[in-house]
Amino acid sequence: MNPVVHLTYRNTARKLAVIGDPVAHSLSPLIQNTLLEHLGLDYVYLALRIPPQATRQWTEAARLLDFAGFNATMPHKTALVELADELSPDAVRCRAVNTVVFREGRLCGYNTDGEGFLRALREANLPPEGKTVTILGAGGAARAVALKLAEAGACRIAVCCRTPEKAAMLREVDDRIHLRSLKPRDLEETLQESDMLINGTPLGMRGVAEHFADLDFLHALRPQAAVCDLIYSPLQTELLARAAEQGHPTLNGLGMLIYQAVLALELFTGTTIDAARARPVVEAALSAVLR
Ligand code: NAP
Repeated sequence: MNPVVHLTYRNTARKLAVIGDPVAHSLSPLIQNTLLEHLGLDYVYLALRIPPQATRQWTEAARLLDFAGFNATMPHKTALVELADELSPDAVRCRAVNTVVFREGRLCGYNTDGEGFLRALREANLPPEGKTVTILGAGGAARAVALKLAEAGACRIAVCCRTPEKAAMLREVDDRIHLRSLKPRDLEETLQESDMLINGTPLGMRGVAEHFADLDFLHALRPQAAVCDLIYSPLQTELLARAAEQGHPTLNGLGMLIYQAVLALELFTGTTIDAARARPVVEAALSAVLR
């Protein structure tokens, strides 16, 4: 994916960016510039490749260049926790920053991934309160989602992953989160008790060689259990297609992608955005690149 972004902006436009390495695939410039144009805000949003060892240098450059803020993707999210002058409660809980706002030169770090997913879940009429949830994977996105669902009132969250050491922090932060393996027996046991399954691994993502070896674990789910995928490319993964065939309510990662961006833009600009009106505008722009 190498999305084309058409930009028209004034010299006075405040600067925003997403930093990452790689970053050329990022949909953030397309989403954010679409939102900025829709809202008539005088900002411009760029994609900047910043190598892993240069996070600090970038923050100094961004201050000097008077950036209003920036989003961060791999591999900068963790390093920014140490570099921030202030952190939001979500960034503290996740120990990861995906949105930075400069306020009077101070670097304020936020994490909008979990809240973005939560909004998408509520919009799809899948409230997490009192639910038992299974999440596959324990990477940055899965961790943010697990912590937000615990905060929102899910009663038990099983994070099934192949490298539990990387996810140990989750248990330290919230004791409703439990770590399990991805072994078929463990997974099946966990799914039998779940109201919701969320894929937080890249398995099934377009351009990623691997898919789930098999999807038979879906048979362990209760008939009404919802199946969500954080992946948005393709819009319908094999996991979601099979789950829908079996009658489960399903949700892809598009809502999370859009709402984490909307939340970031609200922070950058200090404006409240009517997400219900903004979403179709962003979806129309994304339809050129997402299928
Ligand atoms: P990440 O930090 O690299 O984490 C990936 C996780 O998946 C890790 O737990 C990893 O396990 C696990 N994993 C990878 N390959 C696996 C395999 N073959 N079998 C089992 N587990 C495997 O990535 P991320 O940033 O969290 O992103 C994860 C997914 O969420 C991606 O598909 C991404 O596109 C999607 N995402 C969506 C949004 C959105 O807005 N919708 C936002 C962020 C991410 P190990 O630690 O053992 O390697």
